[in-house]
Order: sequence, then structure tokens, then C-alpha cells
Amino acid sequence: MAEGELCIEPAAQKPLIGELPPPDVMIVTSGGSRIPAHGSVLGKMSPVLDGILDKPCKQDTGSERLILIPGVPCEAVAVFVRFLYSNRCAEKDIEKYGVHLLALSHAYMVPNLKQRCARALTNQLTFDNVVDKLKLARLCDAPYLSLKCMKLIVKHFKEVEKTEGWMFLQCHDPWLELEILQFMDETATRKRRVRKLRKAQSMYLQLSEAMDCLEHICTEGCTTVGPHHVEPKRNKAPCSKFSTCQGLQLLIRHFAQCKKRVNGGCLRCKRMWQLLQLHSSICDRIDDCQVPLCRQFKQKAQQGKQQGDPKWKLLVEKVLAAKAMSALLLSKKPSAKVSGWRDMRQW
Ligand SMILES: [Zn+2]
Ligand SMILES: [Zn+2]
Ligand SMILES: [Zn+2]
Repeated sequence: MAEGELCIEPAAQKPLIGELPPPDVMIVTSGGSRIPAHGSVLGKMSPVLDGILDKPCKQDTGSERLILIPGVPCEAVAVFVRFLYSNRCAEKDIEKYGVHLLALSHAYMVPNLKQRCARALTNQLTFDNVVDKLKLARLCDAPYLSLKCMKLIVKHFKEVEKTEGWMFLQCHDPWLELEILQFMDETATRKRRVRKLRKAQSMYLQLSEAMDCLEHICTEGCTTVGPHHVEPKRNKAPCSKFSTCQGLQLLIRHFAQCKKRVNGGCLRCKRMWQLLQLHSSICDRIDDCQVPLCRQFKQKAQQGKQQGDPKWKLLVEKVLAAKAMSALLLSKKPSAKVSGWRDMRQW
């Protein structure tokens, strides 16, 4: 072996060496190291190398083709070549040469090595190196690494903006800076939107639970309130949705006794009225419903006023969807619980 030639680790090449003819390609690195290799193996693993090998090159000497791989430490090139032969790469090599191997696997189109390097590099991210890694990820078109960098920058922006990498980026790459700031803004907006949706969803779930409680209070009765034709059971145990049911029972008792009533401007009575109306909108019983005013509201709705209100329609749809969703959840989890009667006043 000539001086400066690197030996391909026997472990990686052993099973192949017997089957392969003598090397016909010489890979030359920037340090001047020379790595003998086989054009057939390189071309099979990398379409870029295959293309290079297809074209004649004036640096070729006799039957031996020369491939120059500059700008990368020769050890990293050796690891890369070893991967082309064995499809394997030791963790310690990925850890040590991850940056170079990512660049090589991108440049020579070796996707499985590229994926491994991108994943390994995400484990090495720190406040100090994240900006450089982001630039590398973008240069090498590595979206997984790029996203992880962005997320880390968003999460720890205070720390990252103090680093040299960030300051350098501000001076030399204002477009990337802008893109990062936009990403941060979108993340914050997305978080706000998700929070809002979750809050709304939990309100619909509470309403759907209240609808279940209303039916069960009006048909079989619960701890303190029940239909007049059912004998109250002494020491009746609270139902499974008692935090909601109890609030509803208090509201029903108030509704039965209040002197001000809905038209007198009582807010609690108004809320009870709306719950009864909501029940009627989702109730599919025709004549045998025990919930007070259900039939009257249905008749009124047929005449048109509330039914035509798009906001009311949407509310009914959402509560029905939440009802279906909670039925699904309950069939999976026996104690899926949505509590908080108090929040129901929001709608
Ligand atoms: Zn109950
Ligand atoms: Zn009242
Ligand atoms: Zn009904």
C-alpha cells in the first residue's frame, strides 16, 4: 500500500473482499490520503459517484480512476467509504464525524446514512451549536434536523440569542433570522389556537355531559332532584358525573323556586332555560321525553326562530359531536371525566 493510503477496516470489508476484484478506483482526500475502492460498489451505493465514474477524467492514471473528495477530514471520508461497502457505521464514528458524514451523504446521495446522521446530530444540539446545525441542515436539505433546531431555538430563544452563532447569523444571514422569527411567531399563534380550541372543546364536552345529566335527573332522578312520579330513593349514591349533575340539580331547584324568572332578568334561570332548549334541540324522542319543555321547544323550533339561528345550529352540532366523542372515550376509559359545571356559564 502506498504512503498515505488508508486501509478500509477489515471488519467492514471482510465478507466482500474475497468476492471483489482488485480495487480500480482511488479516492483522494484533501489531506492527500488515498483510499482504494471499487467503482462497482461506489456506483451501486451512490448515484452521484456512479455518474462521476461514468465520465472520463483527465486525472485518471491508466486503469485506475481517481475521485477527489476535498474539504472533509480524511478519517470521515474513510468512514463514508466503509459505509458504502458495508451499509454500516459505528455509533462512535457517527458521533465524531456526524457533520461531515451528513454533508457527504447529502452530496453523494446516500439517503440511509444521511438519515442516521441527521438523527444523531439532533442528539448533539446545544444552545451554542444549534444555529450552525440549522444552517447545515438547510444546506444539506435535512428537514428533520432543521425542525428540531427550530424547535430548540423557539423553546430556548433567550439562551440562543446570546450565543455567537446567533449574533453571526444576525449580521450575515438576515433572511434566515427572519425565517426563524416567523417560525416563532407561527408557533406562538398555533399554540394560542390549540389552547382556544381545547377550551372550546372542553366547554362542548361539559354541555354534552350536562345534557346526559338532565335526562337522567328527569327520568330516574339523582341524589336530591328527580321526576315527581318517581319515589326518591333514600341514600341514593351520586351518579358517575356528579360534579356536573350536582350543579345542574342546584340550578333546577333554583329554577323551580325563583321569583324573578327568565323574563325578570335572572341569569341562572336564563341558563337553565337555555339548557332545556339545548336538550330539546338534540333530543330525538317524539312523545315520551320526560325533560320539561322539550316538546314545547320542539314545536317552537318548527315555527322557525331558534332553528334558523346559525350560531345555535353550530352549538347544537358541536355538542352532538362532543357527545359522540365522550361516548367513544367512555367506551375506552371507564372513568373519563369532564368536570366543571361553573365553566358552563361561558357560552
Ligand atoms: Zn346524577
Ligand atoms: Zn332565577
Ligand atoms: Zn327531550
